Amino acid sequence: MATIGFIGLGNMGLPMAINLIKAGHEVRGFDLSAEQVKGLEAAGGSAAKSAADCVDSVEIVVTMLPAGPHVRSVYGESILGTVADGTLLIDCSTIDVASARDVAADAEKAGFDMVDAPVSGGTTGAEAGTLTFMVGGSETAFGRAKPFLEAMGKTIVLAGGSGNGQAAKICNNMMLAINMIGQCEAFAMAEKLGLDTAKLFAISSKSSGQSWAMTTYCPVPGLTDTAASNRDFKPGFTAAMMLKDLGLSQGAAEQVHALTPLGAEAMQLFRDYVDRGNGEIDFSGIINMIRGDA
Ligand code: NAD
Repeated sequence: MATIGFIGLGNMGLPMAINLIKAGHEVRGFDLSAEQVKGLEAAGGSAAKSAADCVDSVEIVVTMLPAGPHVRSVYGESILGTVADGTLLIDCSTIDVASARDVAADAEKAGFDMVDAPVSGGTTGAEAGTLTFMVGGSETAFGRAKPFLEAMGKTIVLAGGSGNGQAAKICNNMMLAINMIGQCEAFAMAEKLGLDTAKLFAISSKSSGQSWAMTTYCPVPGLTDTAASNRDFKPGFTAAMMLKDLGLSQGAAEQVHALTPLGAEAMQLFRDYVDRGNGEIDFSGIINMIRGDA
């Protein structure tokens, strides 16, 4: 069993850290919010006074922070100058590919194994320990990180070198956004054409229009058990999070000159939806804007 320093105990980080405790590890946590740290203590973890205190003399560091600038500053100011030789570094935040590669290069220069390991599966997956981890890093770093990721997730895939976990995450979520908008447009048009949406579902879920956005997360309620539409679009995965990920994918597309016109359009639609006050609503709720209701 290992001693783990966990920085960023938010909606995702706290249940992930709790799963590491349940797997028998000793977890010391730090977050800018004292309330979140109390949640870790209640589950059997201990509280650190600062980010540096959190990672001092641990074997593994896990970070789960909002965005690239947070990861750059926590690594630059508190982690790389503090951790003991041989400490394994795991960043699970969803951040831009360039930041992930820069931080990993600094870690490697300082002699540390590091992986970027962003997740898919949301807060439900974080609580249940069923997250999917998309990992970027060396085979050695991946081999060391895998047993710890397995305590928090079910599917762990090495996507290539540093930053490739982030690349996989933003490509996947760009596909999801485009697919979801496609479902919303088709189901909203069916309603206007007088076509029963249950009939469209019965046909398209077995035809070429089928996708995860339809058969697992249909934006029309009552057609798939697992959809946020059944819970009045309580998230799930918020529209604000989807907009963040589309910003990351469009930023990356620009850097490598990838042509992503539908990704750009999806980002514009999600920006409009969020600007209308729907940031904390599930992303599939965008069907209401497409219907003309939001
Ligand atoms: P969150 O805002 O709930 O948690 C982030 C936590 O980091 C907060 O508690 C905040 O206080 C803390 N924090 C910020 N700066 C800090 C610092 N310098 N030192 C210590 N703590 C600091 O966000 P979340 O939903 O837990 O998401 C975390 C990451 O996971 C994000 O990158 C997000 O894109 C990604 N993600 C989220 C979901 C989801 O459904 N929520 C799904 C997949 C991936």
